[in-house]
Amino acid sequence: MVRLAEVRAKSILNKSKIFDYCLNPYTGCVHGCRYCYAALFMRRYSGHSEPWGEFVDIKINAPELLKKQLPRAKPGTIWIASVCDAYQPAEVKYQLTRKCLIEISHYDFPVFIQTKSDLVVRDLDVLAEVKEVEIGFSIATDDDRVASLFEPQAPSITRRIKALEKIKSQNIKTFAFVGPILPQTPERLISLIAGLVDKIFIDRLNYPAQFLSFYRQLHLEAYIKESYFEQIKNRLVEEARKHRIDYELIF
Ligand code: SF4
Repeated sequence: MVRLAEVRAKSILNKSKIFDYCLNPYTGCVHGCRYCYAALFMRRYSGHSEPWGEFVDIKINAPELLKKQLPRAKPGTIWIASVCDAYQPAEVKYQLTRKCLIEISHYDFPVFIQTKSDLVVRDLDVLAEVKEVEIGFSIATDDDRVASLFEPQAPSITRRIKALEKIKSQNIKTFAFVGPILPQTPERLISLIAGLVDKIFIDRLNYPAQFLSFYRQLHLEAYIKESYFEQIKNRLVEEARKHRIDYELIF
């Protein structure tokens, strides 16, 4: 059961260490990924006692705040989103991400969107008006069954690939974030995204201790070993080179 609450935020365009700014229209994320790094600190930060994935605060004043903040901000890349998925199910009704993109389209701020949801395709009309856009999907495995274990409420890998096809057909710059490395066949993963992405980012699993019991429950300990990450990384790199896809290692 997910607890949704409408809240009023104090700021929506915030400084980021990775990009110039980050924008999170929601606090919390119902995709409930087992490995979510935001889950490690966002519950404490937001004062929620519910498990990660079971609460979402909807920042209903996000577009209004952005309208005030954008004219005062120095142009820079906006990362949507850093600690939630801006296209999680609440976005269907609230359209906060869409309304924020409309505000952004009036200025010269490049946008970097990272999501697991094909709902982003809904906003291609607005994104066509934004100065510079890069859209990517987290694709940590090629296998829908594995994805459903680790990312229980997120759209399937198959749906993400279909969305990538639509986005690429609009000549938008795209990427795949292959991280954290989940059980997979790297050759198949790269063949699924070849021709659909300009770049892949490869990341290992960074919090093995927290997930050890989950891996044990599923008898998947072999997939959390250093040697497994190394082997998969090397095979991903080899395939990326073969398909002439640019790649970046975040190990
Ligand atoms: S989609 Fe991203 S923010 Fe949401 S639970 Fe998964 S990893 Fe966390």
